[in-house]
Amino acid sequence: RAVLDRIDAVDGKVGAYLTVDADGALDQAQAADHRLAAGDAQPLTGIPLGIKDLMCTRGLRTTCASKMLENFVPPYDATVVTRLKNAGAVIVGKLNMDEFAMGSTTEHSGFQVTRNPWNLDRIPGGSSGGSAAAVSADMCLGALGSDTGGSIRQPASHCGVVGIKPTYGRVSRFGLVAFASSLDQIGPLGKTVADCAIMLDAIAGHDPKDSTSVAEPVPAFASIAEGGLADVVVGIPKEFSQAQGLDPQVGAAVERAVATIESLGARCIEVSLPHTDHAVAAYYVIAPSEASSNLARYDGVKYGARDKTQTDLLGMYRRTRSQGFGAEVQRRIILGTYALSAGYYDAYYGKASQVRTLIKNDFQSAFASCDAILSPVAPTPAYPIGATLEDPLTMYLSDIFTLSANLAGIPGISVPCGFSDDGLPIGLQVMGRHFNEAMLFKIARAFE
Ligand code: GLN
Repeated sequence: RAVLDRIDAVDGKVGAYLTVDADGALDQAQAADHRLAAGDAQPLTGIPLGIKDLMCTRGLRTTCASKMLENFVPPYDATVVTRLKNAGAVIVGKLNMDEFAMGSTTEHSGFQVTRNPWNLDRIPGGSSGGSAAAVSADMCLGALGSDTGGSIRQPASHCGVVGIKPTYGRVSRFGLVAFASSLDQIGPLGKTVADCAIMLDAIAGHDPKDSTSVAEPVPAFASIAEGGLADVVVGIPKEFSQAQGLDPQVGAAVERAVATIESLGARCIEVSLPHTDHAVAAYYVIAPSEASSNLARYDGVKYGARDKTQTDLLGMYRRTRSQGFGAEVQRRIILGTYALSAGYYDAYYGKASQVRTLIKNDFQSAFASCDAILSPVAPTPAYPIGATLEDPLTMYLSDIFTLSANLAGIPGISVPCGFSDDGLPIGLQVMGRHFNEAMLFKIARAFE
């Protein structure tokens, strides 16, 4: 009830929720009360959580913030939702995002803009901006987001909360509406590192319904002991401090974070990720290519909205797709379709895939001499709403620090590490080896 009251009080200003399931949440909470009374408590019993609106929830509208899916009510739960429910969580509602998770600001939602709770004139980041804003403004105690190229870490950084993108394959994508299938990964956002660890414990692990989920043992992240960082070696990539557009206040906050980590006993060394400069270009070929293929299913026949004004099939396809998808999604479909078209595949998608391998190899070499890599999450604190709306390239370039982890499939966490002069949160990113989320939690805890 406290969370529902809080939503009533502040979500009119913030705009984080697309759907609030007040009755369903109260029913689930009552069931949780009974379980608690019976001494049958699970780790998340009675904990109110929000879900980014691209994970299927049985009987609860799942829109991907798109007119195309405005009235889509899934007949099944995503595996992550099933697992949260099994762990006792109460699902409060569905959170706003950039349409189909394409964007870094949550302004590209088909329904509403979400505002940053720290300053309502600023973006909350994106695409999981609703998730980060809801956690930050206490409209849920934790949330799930998805991260294809930074969409958990960057909004967590802008809203002053913790967010982790697990290793590709750590968490099932069954029931996650696909954007770019080789990059997409679900993860938690929470107020603290410990909260994220509890949520990741609940959702991680192999799922026979997702053949890319990995049968790797899942450590109990929530019980990883706190301790010093005495045996830890962290790498600082020299290319990142030279990155174009890095705000000096962000640079300074990250430098202070490095000093904190050193004071706890970690050894810091310089490492090199020489292909960093090509990450944005490679990502913005691969992600739109996969998106153009994944979004082909929205044809007005099998799913979602259908234009009823046309009498011929092609006309119906055309109008359904040009009215159902917003401008940013159409831009990605056009880019991706072009990059995959006959004669261009080798030059674009093929080349970008080769660059992706080089980026992955960069990390492999760096991790030969360190346990984790530190960097900023976003080059600047949250910028004003509207600043990149007509300028997608600037928005794409702001993903420079987060895209590489998706291209390489490695885990990355964003943890608050300071504030700008005007009081906006700044996040630190910690990236680690495949399946070593435990190392990220250990280092991130130093900031709590
Ligand atoms: N900002 C990136 C994009 O627009 C990443 C989005 C994401 O991670 N879903 O594609």
